[in-house]
Amino acid sequence: MLNVKELLSKVETRLYIDGEWREGAGGETYDVLNPATEEVLATMSSGTREDSVAALDAAHRARKEWERTAPRTRAEILRKGYDLLKERKEEFATIMTLEMGKSLTEARGEVDYGADYLLWFSEEANHFFGHTNQYPAKGNRMVTVHKPIGPCLLITPWNFPLSMATRKIAPALAAGNTVIIKPAKLTPLTMQYFVQTMIEAGVPAGVINIVSSRSAADVSEPIMADPRLRKMSFTGSTPVGSSLMELAAQNVLKVSLELGGNAPAIVFADADIDGAVEGVKAAKMRNVGEACTAANRILVHESVAEEFTRKLVDAISALKVGNGMDDGVEVGPLVEPKAVDHMEELVKDAVEHGGEVLTGGKRVDGPGFFFEPTVISGASTDAKVFREEIFGPIAPIFTFATEEEAWEMANDTEYGLASYVFSEDPDMMFRASDNLEFGIVGFNSGVVSDASIPFGGVKASGLGREGSREGMFEYTEVQHVGTRDPYQRVK
Ligand code: NAD
Repeated sequence: MLNVKELLSKVETRLYIDGEWREGAGGETYDVLNPATEEVLATMSSGTREDSVAALDAAHRARKEWERTAPRTRAEILRKGYDLLKERKEEFATIMTLEMGKSLTEARGEVDYGADYLLWFSEEANHFFGHTNQYPAKGNRMVTVHKPIGPCLLITPWNFPLSMATRKIAPALAAGNTVIIKPAKLTPLTMQYFVQTMIEAGVPAGVINIVSSRSAADVSEPIMADPRLRKMSFTGSTPVGSSLMELAAQNVLKVSLELGGNAPAIVFADADIDGAVEGVKAAKMRNVGEACTAANRILVHESVAEEFTRKLVDAISALKVGNGMDDGVEVGPLVEPKAVDHMEELVKDAVEHGGEVLTGGKRVDGPGFFFEPTVISGASTDAKVFREEIFGPIAPIFTFATEEEAWEMANDTEYGLASYVFSEDPDMMFRASDNLEFGIVGFNSGVVSDASIPFGGVKASGLGREGSREGMFEYTEVQHVGTRDPYQRVK
């Protein structure tokens, strides 16, 4: 195991603006806690409105040169970042576990997943072409180019501190944009260390800027009102995303929003029950249930509900809870005390709505913000565990009688990010795709994220896609250049 003190001493706690590390202009600070021990890991310099504007000044100045940097050069820097991330896998995983709580095994998985965005977009940087064609009714030719947008504000959540960063930063830089990053206050250390790593990989001054702050609005508001900012990409909760969308309207900023979810996991009567239990467990308990893709509502056909529930309870009650740094731990702490209060409130409300707690259901004594992995069945669909994003280790089971009812229950939410379907009927994959109002459908799979897929939601789950070729479009504008008919002057 790494020496934690030594590792933390390597992580910068200041802001990085215009190629230099500096204290926040207001001289204020905030602490970062370890949610498993409640110990202070670091004291961060807190960015102000003035710092945010300084970061935009730098990003605006650096934009032309970076735009004109050859795609291959940009690709090589991203590729170097990928290599460094892989080399430092254990360091990044440890920092993530310390500040966010997930197990080291999961944190290592996130380093691989997050690094893949650097690799993927280093390849896209070289292959992202426009096209030419002819007006259908005339000889005129047109050229369509994808241009960088300009300075981008990137706001990330605490639950995946590294991969939510690389998923935005890699395509933004690959396409030739400059960025101002605002990491989550609860987990800034991973992003700070990532920025240090990208500087070593060769990202020039002004192209990457980070303004960590205890006040998110101080960073976003002044620069979203400034016409030099051209793009805002946000991952986080739906209420914050929607208020940022209002702010973005002032200057008609291009916006990407990756927001909350309320994923259904539908288990049909013909499903491989053991496979479905594994898939649902992975989709539910990954990241302590603190994932936008987490299976929130487990909908099971009534004919297999008894067998499925029994097996899911066995699987979930066997999970080892503890400090994510300890060997064999599968479920770490929640990120902060109010998340534990929220779990308690959800369980109480589910029981009031007819639910029965089959395993777990209680907070675990501290230190640390722990809650037992929980399975509840029989609550009505008015319960909060059906209506709201749970964001913790509670698995509520509901039953259905017909396929039509399953689609209706699944779509009965304002969200539309991930969904899961378990069935041995291959036609079901297409019926699920036709009937589910979700951006992502996992078919017999509880894992749906990869750098190569277009990740994103519909309805209140957001706008736009991250990853894959689609991820580049979020950071480019299309320009059309029209020409006359090249034969018009030929006699
Ligand atoms: P959050 O909305 O509280 O915060 C997200 C980020 O926004 C943080 O950096 C925060 O500091 C910042 N922020 C908060 N208020 C702000 C404001 N007024 N102006 C500007 N920035 C502001 O969300 P969270 O609790 O960090 O993350 C959990 C949420 O994120 C869940 O709803 C989850 O579903 C969602 N999420 C979505 C995806 C996705 O890809 N769709 C991925 C991960 C998480």
